[in-house]
Amino acid sequence: MGVNVQENIPLKAHTVFKIGGPARFFVEVKSREELVDALRFAGERGLPFFILGAGSNVLVSDKGFDGVFIKNSANRVTINGEKILADAGVMLPYLASEAARAGLSGFEWGVGIPGTVGGSVRGNSGCFGSEMKDVVEAVEVFDVNEAKSPDGRAIEDPRQGRDYKLKAKSCEFGYRDSIFKHSPNFVIISAVLALKKGEPQLIQERMKDLVSRRVDTQDIGAKCAGCIFKNVPWSRKDIDQKALLLRFPVLKKFESAPGISAGFLIDEVGLKGQRIGNAMISRKHANFFINTGDAKAEDVIMLVALVKERVHRKFGILLEEEIQYIGFE
Ligand SMILES: Cc1cc2nc3c(=O)[nH]c(=O)nc-3n(C[C@H](O)[C@H](O)[C@H](O)COP(=O)(O)OP(=O)(O)OC[C@H]3O[C@@H](n4cnc5c(N)ncnc54)[C@H](O)[C@@H]3O)c2cc1C
Repeated sequence: MGVNVQENIPLKAHTVFKIGGPARFFVEVKSREELVDALRFAGERGLPFFILGAGSNVLVSDKGFDGVFIKNSANRVTINGEKILADAGVMLPYLASEAARAGLSGFEWGVGIPGTVGGSVRGNSGCFGSEMKDVVEAVEVFDVNEAKSPDGRAIEDPRQGRDYKLKAKSCEFGYRDSIFKHSPNFVIISAVLALKKGEPQLIQERMKDLVSRRVDTQDIGAKCAGCIFKNVPWSRKDIDQKALLLRFPVLKKFESAPGISAGFLIDEVGLKGQRIGNAMISRKHANFFINTGDAKAEDVIMLVALVKERVHRKFGILLEEEIQYIGFE
């Protein structure tokens, strides 16, 4: 086994929220080969696995994860003309700065997202009107489906898995969604981004502007998990745009937007600054929950339930989580 498997490692150290109990086993991998080794370690013991990127969009339970936690730190970046091949463990701000250095435009917005390529492709992350789907050309995947055990997550022998490349249109990208969210046995190995030549000075200025817009609207450096809830697209099957706008004129400002901001709804029900234990709804951005001290996952879960109940009671809208829960089964 070419990887260093550690036992009983507190996961709070590996999430931006700084919340979470221990992983029974923890492995950091830096290549596809190490990843397969780690998956084999899980498979041989019949244990479930979880692939972690930067841990910036997850909530780990207080009891932790009874399986093999695999932190993907593979971080190669290769630039070839207007294409960038990036390992799944590459951080978006680094990738944005490498693109800028090469005079490539179209990924300036990546500078503000504290996640990896793997986590961001899976969630089709984005901001300021751009998303991963606008720049991703193809994704290299390791598919352990064929080797899965009956619980659907543990695998018997990952060497039976397969590598293949998915073109962007096969990734089924949607709002904070992709095929990878529905296929937990697809492990993202790398992605190819297609950008365009740009004016280096303008690229730098755009990045600076996007960073300062974030500073104005978010609690930079706070222990959090980004947006807890997805915005509410008008296209959602249970959302009746006409009826909502008629009943709640305050929502008119979103009439020509793709949907309603979840942060706005939380603010409207008066929950900014609300606290349970050491978890608090940000006063700056109501869709961010802040760990103000040694918050427990339980505190966050109760805050999530409170927000859902209040928003549903007032607007009849059910908010859906953007964050990924780990270890709550
Ligand atoms: C301060 C702050 C600001 C943020 N701003 C934004 C924003 O503007 N826009 C936005 O969209 N998000 C934002 N986020 C949320 C988050 O940064 C993104 O969702 C990011 O893409 C998550 O990447 P990650 O590597 O941290 O994923 P993680 O949190 O580590 O994991 C998220 C999910 O991705 C899966 N995953 C990770 N790597 C792989 C892989 N290689 N293969 C398969 N699955 C994988 C994990 O299993 C998990 O299910 C913000 C978060 C914070 C803390």
